[in-house]
Amino acid sequence: MTTNKLSIYNTIKKKKEIFEPLNPPFVGLYVCGPTVYGDPHLGHARPAITYDILFRYLKYLGYKVRYVRNITDVGHLENDSDDGEDKITKKAILEALEPMEVVQYYSNSYYNRMQELNVLPPSIEPRASGHIIEQQELIRKIMKNGYAYISEGSVYFDVEKYDKTYHYGKLSGRVLEDMISSNRELSGQSEKKNNADFALWKKADSGHIMHWPSEWSEGFPGWHLECSAMSTKYLGQEFDIHGGGMDLLFPHHECEIAQSTAANGKESVKYWMHNNMITIEGTKMGKSLGNFITLEELFSGKHAKLQKAYHPMTIRFFMLQAHYRSTMDFSNEALQASEKGLERILKAVQAIDLLSVSEKSSLDIQQLKKDAFDAMNDDLNTPIMLANLFEGVKFINSVVAGTATITQNDKLELKKLYQDLLFDICGMKPDEAGQASEVGKLDDVMNILLNLRIDAKTNKDFATADKIRDKLLQAGFVIKDKKDGFEWELK
Ligand code: ZN
Repeated sequence: MTTNKLSIYNTIKKKKEIFEPLNPPFVGLYVCGPTVYGDPHLGHARPAITYDILFRYLKYLGYKVRYVRNITDVGHLENDSDDGEDKITKKAILEALEPMEVVQYYSNSYYNRMQELNVLPPSIEPRASGHIIEQQELIRKIMKNGYAYISEGSVYFDVEKYDKTYHYGKLSGRVLEDMISSNRELSGQSEKKNNADFALWKKADSGHIMHWPSEWSEGFPGWHLECSAMSTKYLGQEFDIHGGGMDLLFPHHECEIAQSTAANGKESVKYWMHNNMITIEGTKMGKSLGNFITLEELFSGKHAKLQKAYHPMTIRFFMLQAHYRSTMDFSNEALQASEKGLERILKAVQAIDLLSVSEKSSLDIQQLKKDAFDAMNDDLNTPIMLANLFEGVKFINSVVAGTATITQNDKLELKKLYQDLLFDICGMKPDEAGQASEVGKLDDVMNILLNLRIDAKTNKDFATADKIRDKLLQAGFVIKDKKDGFEWELK
């Protein structure tokens, strides 16, 4: 393990803490994954990339990470109340498919897009429907401890009773009394004792395709339950980090805390991490607003809001340019700026090998490295880390221009710095990301060769000069001599 001390922002304690795993060197990481009922969109990319960088960085620091990211395939209702509709069931009926066909289709599409974004697959990817027994067991445990009740074949979590012993609202900072009074007028119409109560088990109505037998009713689990059940199954009753989007903080994560605490008498999560949302040209993304952009549309450019197609690595780089806890605004201008930035950085990285070395370096590479890693250790501050990498780019370009110098040793250090931070930790794929600058690279190589040819001519070594020209011609390049140099083109 390295001596790097990573700090992360703990949502409950509202401050940065030095990250200390419960069982070093093992780290348990759970992240709420997608509900698979539609094409993955821009909103899916941010949490996926945020926790991918955390996963990669923890591994880089020497931890053995078990990263669990679930697939919600049942029970996620249209809205967060308990009377919405199951989106997967709705889609299945609409398209005359088995619900599992819907789930498989959109899971595949999610995996494909994630692969394009170079998001590593998690260690375990459990599905809610594969863990009905564990969820039912958890309900029994909560009932046995007295924090749930049956009503009309459904089982509800008794929030008011829970709040008397524990504290419901500690993650979101909400106060139960306010939640109850703001909902009081609705409570008479519900089968719940209290409007803040949430379903652990719902009795299925006749139109609901996915349901399972239980002692309470033929039904299906409530959405919040799956994450408590699956995180406990794979990471234990207590684990290190739980992540997810800020939109899941309430009620989903608040309910997860309540469920685990009611079942086990203790909280399960040591650190809660939440990534912020993406806005599009300043507004929230929404189907009705016409600014809902899927990842496929983004990569192909086929959407009215898009001026062109964007490479997945451009999207990934764009995400790195904001801190994960800040909102980020998406626009063509911002993406095109990211594209240029990425090209600039990759071009400089490619130039490192060709730098001529000197006795002394005019930049303190150790300091640059320290600053870049300090930023990563400061709650994964990727924008500051990137600012440091761009400092390095400026330096590399100065060495190329002859206004700065570098030693052989620093050249190797610099190369490793970009390999570690940009490629291994931030997951930028050098080959793919380099596609855009491929032409530029070819240009560089041709310039090297043709300058050698000019040198040969100057030295009256016409045999070598002709040989270079003839070999290039064989390889498909036409060389034209000019008064002030040369021109080349592909045959
Ligand atoms: Zn969850």
